[in-house]
Amino acid sequence: MNSTSITLNQFYHRFPKADLHYHLLGGVRLETMLFLADKYSFELTELEAKCYYRAYQHETGIVKGGIEALTFLYELMREPEDYFRVLIEVAQDAHACGVRYLEIFWNPSDTKISYQSVTKLLATAIEHVEQEMGLVVRLIPSINREKSPEIALEMVEQMIAFPHPYVLGIGIDYKEHNAPVEHFWKAYALAKEQGYKLTAHCSEFGLHWRNVETGLELLNLDRIDHGYTIIDNPQLTAKYAHQGIPFTVIPSNTYYLKKWPNHNEWAEKHPIRAMAKAGLNIVPCTDDWHIHNTTSANCYRVMVEDFGFDLSSLRQIMINGIAASWAPENLKQQWIKEWSLEFDLLRKGLIEQPQISKEQLIKYRR
Ligand SMILES: [Zn+2]
Repeated sequence: MNSTSITLNQFYHRFPKADLHYHLLGGVRLETMLFLADKYSFELTELEAKCYYRAYQHETGIVKGGIEALTFLYELMREPEDYFRVLIEVAQDAHACGVRYLEIFWNPSDTKISYQSVTKLLATAIEHVEQEMGLVVRLIPSINREKSPEIALEMVEQMIAFPHPYVLGIGIDYKEHNAPVEHFWKAYALAKEQGYKLTAHCSEFGLHWRNVETGLELLNLDRIDHGYTIIDNPQLTAKYAHQGIPFTVIPSNTYYLKKWPNHNEWAEKHPIRAMAKAGLNIVPCTDDWHIHNTTSANCYRVMVEDFGFDLSSLRQIMINGIAASWAPENLKQQWIKEWSLEFDLLRKGLIEQPQISKEQLIKYRR
């Protein structure tokens, strides 16, 4: 392999990446959403249309989160073939951004089709994209925490009744405010007992760090999704940095985008940078690709341009993503070697370097 001349933008698109925090329906393209609405004669309200794309939201000045969009998207996914189409498109978009490994959440309690049918269709689509693009996709059924803990338990029972090798673990998402992860301990305990990996959205929306603490200390989670306010507790932050607990962090997170709409403030105020400075094991991910109007390439570009990470930090973060994934250990070791070589070769071909001011620069090494 020879290094060829590339721009920074091409570099962000080409180096290999793992995305571990990706909601399937957050990856529904606008045209697909409109196609599905038409197919099922679903009349979109103005709010539904406007909360979909951040590009629209910028016009109106109202930034909406992904939850409203995800809720109505589940209404539009009515046949197994809809899931097949969406997964193929998700894979195409990810592949075009250098993503080589993707772990995808979906909420079985929200689908209009049985758990077994959705899993089967998604698995068929996964085999197709692995053959066509070499992209490896795996699945994480996720609890909708706005529903009851009993419904969450039913989800895990379904997973046990219809096991599939592509289903690696469980997650939890939606509004956390009145539903901390410990409410769902039975579902988590059963999943753990059955050998599934565990992750959870904790301490998002500026919520207290104890949600991360209970998730890790009581539920024995393997990973944390978000977890930003952990930095308000330096003792726990140091502990989890030492333990290497992976935190999937979202540069396009709605809560902080609303709080500091001006990206110039991010280097100073955004917790992602503070988490890295404290030595936490961070993995930047896209969360809701089309709803956040972002991509994997953009996610890493923001890490450099808005947060000030240098390219060696980006390399470390790429490796964090592989190591934090739930892929088999031997494959992870192979990817760490291969992707690092690829990253270095692409970096050699760069015809421009990121412009990061001295004050903003962060060197993240673990
Ligand atoms: Zn999420």
